[in-house]
Amino acid sequence: MSRFFSPKHAALDAYVPGEQPRDRKYIKLNTNESPFPPHPAVAEAVAMEAGQLQLYSDPTMKALTEATAATFGVAPEQVLMVNGSDEALNFAFWAFCDESHPIAYPAISYGFYSVFCALHHIPAKEIPLREDFSIDYRDYCGIGCAVVIANPNAPTGLALPLSRIEEIVKSNPDHPVIIDEAYVDFGAESAVSLLPRYPNLIVIGTFSKSRSLAGARLGFAIASPEIIRNLNTIKYSTNPYNVNRMTAAAGIATLAHNDVAMANCRTIAATRERVKTALRALGFTVTDSKANFLFAAHATLGGEELYKQLRSRGILIRHFSTPAIANYNRITVGTDDEMDTLIAAIRDILASQRKED
Ligand code: PMP
Repeated sequence: MSRFFSPKHAALDAYVPGEQPRDRKYIKLNTNESPFPPHPAVAEAVAMEAGQLQLYSDPTMKALTEATAATFGVAPEQVLMVNGSDEALNFAFWAFCDESHPIAYPAISYGFYSVFCALHHIPAKEIPLREDFSIDYRDYCGIGCAVVIANPNAPTGLALPLSRIEEIVKSNPDHPVIIDEAYVDFGAESAVSLLPRYPNLIVIGTFSKSRSLAGARLGFAIASPEIIRNLNTIKYSTNPYNVNRMTAAAGIATLAHNDVAMANCRTIAATRERVKTALRALGFTVTDSKANFLFAAHATLGGEELYKQLRSRGILIRHFSTPAIANYNRITVGTDDEMDTLIAAIRDILASQRKED
C-alpha cells in the first residue's frame, strides 16, 4: 500500500474475480459466462462502430435505452444502461445507502455486496440463510432498511418465487429494494412486472450471462423514472460515457435477436438439469439451481480437492473458501460436450480416490 492511499480505504477487502488464466486452454466453468458466442450480427455492428471511435459515445445511450425498454415493456425513462451490472449495483448502493442508511442481504450471496458496503461505509445487515441455503423471505419483510437480493441467488442458484419478492418489496415501501437478476433468464421469474405497483423496486440485469456479452460489459437498471434520475446523478458525477460505442452497438444487435439468446438460455437450463441428475447419481448434494451454474458438494471428496484435481485436468470451476460453503463448488453450465468431459473427469477422480482408500 502506498503512503498516499486514503486511510478511508485502508480496510477495503476488494472483490476477487474468478480466475482468467492464459497459461493453457481450459474448459472454463468458473465465471458463469455463456458457452455460446454472441449473435453474428454483433461482430458486424461492433466493426461498424470501431471506425468511429474518435467520437465519444452518446451519454444518454438513447438507441440502446429504447431497445432495452422495448424488450422489457417499460418506458425509456425507467432504464439506465451501465458498464456491466456491477456498475448499476455500485450506483444504487452509492445513491441510496450511506453511514446511516444500512442495507440488508443474504449472508451467502454475491461477494460484491459487502465490498460496496465497505467502499461506501454502509452498515451491512447480513441475514443468515436457512440450513438448505434457501432465503426465508420473511426475514426481509418490513426490515426497515434497503435490501438487495440476487434472484436467483449466487452461488446457490436458488430462486424465490415472484410472490415472495413482492412481499419483500410491498412490506418496505419506504426503502429501496434491489433485485439483482443477473441469472433470471435461466429459469426464475423477473420482478420487472411488479414495477408499475412499487416505486421502491429496482431491478438490475446484465447482458453478461444470458446474452453472451460478458466481455463487452453491459448491464442495466430498471426502476421508476425518479430512481433512474438519481442513478443518473451518480453516473454523471463519475463517468458520463460509461458505456462505450462498441458495447452499445453490441447491445442493440443482441436485442434485435433476443429470441436467439433466450433459446440459448433454454438449452443451458436443459443441460443444467441433466448434469444435476448426473452429479447426484455420483454422490453430490446439488441445490435446485435456476441459474446457469450448479452448486454442488460431494459426500467424500472435499470442495477444494475437487477444484484442484479438475484444474490439473484442464477444467476450471469456482471454489469459495468461505467456511460455510467450503465443501461446495460452483460449476458453470457449459455446452453438453464440456459437461460430458466434466462428468467423465469427476468419475475418474472418484475412481482414483476409491483406489487409494
Ligand atoms: N450480480 C451477480 C449475482 C453476479 O454473479 C454477477 C457476475 N459476477 C454480477 C451481478 C455482475 O455481472 P456483470 O457486471 O458482468 O453484469
